[in-house]
Amino acid sequence: MTGTECPACGETERLSGDRDGELIHLQCGACGEKWDRNLDPVCKRCGGTDMQAVPKAIVEKSRGTQLSVVGIRTVHLCSICDAATLETYHRNRPNPLMPDQLPTANG
Ligand SMILES: [Zn+2]
Ligand SMILES: [Zn+2]
Repeated sequence: MTGTECPACGETERLSGDRDGELIHLQCGACGEKWDRNLDPVCKRCGGTDMQAVPKAIVEKSRGTQLSVVGIRTVHLCSICDAATLETYHRNRPNPLMPDQLPTANG
């Protein structure tokens, strides 16, 4: 996690967080300060807040040329900038979105 620091003492390492819906409750391990961080995602391209949380597959190359899904992470896609990607996702539901770039067999 980057960009998070204690508002009281500036500590950036010893922070603990509890996810609670769209909020993270953070606590500083150095001074004990508690604060909340809003998770509301904002589009980096258009600044819009109409974002959708979409599960995205984490794909790794296993032995040979086989690709396997090793995990899922949640990404936020913009309804405007990522409209085509969202459409693909909704068409393939409930399958997770595949990464834009798959590891190649000879990479
Ligand atoms: Zn602190
Ligand atoms: Zn956007």
